[in-house]
Amino acid sequence: MKKLADPTSIKVLERLEKYIAAGSITASQAWSVFSKADGALKSDKKETKISARECESINKLKEIVKSRLKSKISGRCAYCKRVMGQHGMSWHIEHIKGKTKNPEFIFDMDNLTYACIDCNYTKSSSIDRPNISHLIINPNSESFQYNKHIRFIHIATENLHYLRYTAISDEGTFTYTELAFERLELIELVTSLNPIIKDIAIRIDTRVDDLDDSDESLKDFMMALKDAIT
Ligand SMILES: [Zn+2]
Repeated sequence: MKKLADPTSIKVLERLEKYIAAGSITASQAWSVFSKADGALKSDKKETKISARECESINKLKEIVKSRLKSKISGRCAYCKRVMGQHGMSWHIEHIKGKTKNPEFIFDMDNLTYACIDCNYTKSSSIDRPNISHLIINPNSESFQYNKHIRFIHIATENLHYLRYTAISDEGTFTYTELAFERLELIELVTSLNPIIKDIAIRIDTRVDDLDDSDESLKDFMMALKDAIT
């Protein structure tokens, strides 16, 4: 990421890396400085506080990073391949090797991709937790071809979205199971058939987006609520 950054952002990233290594902030707190720079500007914690100039610089870098990642995945979630914006759901910069287990790769472009809120949340709440080790697809691995692991059919009409996945490889099978693709098949169908449920699901996504990583239990509750209505 530093190759894309100006000198001001580079200094912020290096400062954050130093604080993570020293144990004075967590990887999630460091990532919040990057992903929610305006909040970091107002922070009381000296390690995560940044100046207005740094905030502006980080926000510019964030847009460059997002643009690079979006074009790399052709506007689809790296894991489930749903099209960005098609169903109004939120999208996140995703750490392939999770932040908590691999803080050294937090600002490494090779470790970043783009994912929908469902895949991002499910992965961070299961696979990325410290005591779990499952082999799911790595969309940034060398010569990666999605259809060697997972095939899918997605038929979208004005009133109906039909989505079905078939896992081909072991990684594809783990991805289907661990990222709860069966749920995605259901969410697509239910939200396309019922505009009210779709609206509520989008509102939940938006609220979850606004929460910090430290609000884990509230996030869990909101996503469980989305599960319950779909
Ligand atoms: Zn997804």
